[in-house]
Amino acid sequence: MRNQNHKYLVLPGPVEVRPEILDAQSEWMIGHRSTAFADLFARMQTNLKQAFGTESRVFVQGSSGTGLWEGASRNCIREGKKALHLVGGAFSERWAEVSKLNGKDIDVIAVDWGKAHTAEMVEAALKQQPYDAVCAVHNETSTGVTNPIKDIAAVVRQYEDTLMLVDTVSGFLGAKLLTDEWGLDMALTSSQKAFALPPGLAFAAVSDRVLERASQVSNRGYYFDFIEIEALLKKNNTPSTPPVSLMFAADRQLEDILNGEGLHGRWQRHLQMRDLTLNWAQERGLGAFAQDGYRSPTVSTIANTSGFDMDAMAKFMSSKGFSMDKGYGKIKGKTFRIAHMGDMQLATLEEVLGGLDEFLAGN
Ligand SMILES: *Cc1c(COP(=O)(O)O)cnc(C)c1O
Repeated sequence: MRNQNHKYLVLPGPVEVRPEILDAQSEWMIGHRSTAFADLFARMQTNLKQAFGTESRVFVQGSSGTGLWEGASRNCIREGKKALHLVGGAFSERWAEVSKLNGKDIDVIAVDWGKAHTAEMVEAALKQQPYDAVCAVHNETSTGVTNPIKDIAAVVRQYEDTLMLVDTVSGFLGAKLLTDEWGLDMALTSSQKAFALPPGLAFAAVSDRVLERASQVSNRGYYFDFIEIEALLKKNNTPSTPPVSLMFAADRQLEDILNGEGLHGRWQRHLQMRDLTLNWAQERGLGAFAQDGYRSPTVSTIANTSGFDMDAMAKFMSSKGFSMDKGYGKIKGKTFRIAHMGDMQLATLEEVLGGLDEFLAGN
């Protein structure tokens, strides 16, 4: 029996998961060295490649997205070489920290929170010195900024030894991303954001160049050793026991998306939700925190210009059946986020905004 008191999650992760997807997890367990598992893995591999827009491969990991940050930094940056991190919010800041804590030497291009990085900034840095990798966040969930990854990657692609590593944790399956066409070497994500699955799985499209690089790094660690993961992936398997129930859910979700609204339909619906939210905010004198032209299709960070009480807002919205975000990191309170990602439909978002209107009318 599910909790009858459930509040619909309007959070930028974990997001609301459809009952059909929750149910898919209750399938009988299978052994991960069985043919049934290999079949599941192979089917998911085909669908994941389509979802990422890649011909190479997609790693499936039992971990949250953070694990693949560590894997990316660990496998892609050689001893004595450097990586360039593009930092402009809480998550990009944290990935840079992950690289450092793994003993990697990094430089940072920092922009003010709410601003996007540009291809010109990256080009100027790459002209100065060589980097093993550029690490960028596609969709900065704290600020609601979507970075121009396609343009940045086009610059990085001119440097043969520089890998383009992208965190698309809150972008994937909500904001357009074309791994091969844009020239990305790695695009990593988690299950609980726009993918609309329970938390616990991470995915990454990985290029041959990444594997070639990994073979030149001596201390890749154990759990996220890309060479080992690739060796098992070729057998439709994983080095250690995978979260099989979550994979049943992911398998169902991929089938539903690709045979249902499709990638373009999904990107389009997210843009419509973004526009609906930002128009709503503007009409009420609330501004978008993110720079114009770079506002995220999956999460809107709204400047709390009227200074209303976030706790009261969240409490009121909870009485309407919605679990709301109250802001994140150093801009908490000054901003709050309306997540419109995953399987949320426009009608639900309209209900959310209607609830917020009721709250604002009483304050
Ligand atoms: C949520 C988030 C992460 C962290 O992912 P986990 O799955 O919680 O480890 C990283 N980057 C971005 C942009 C995120 O939104």
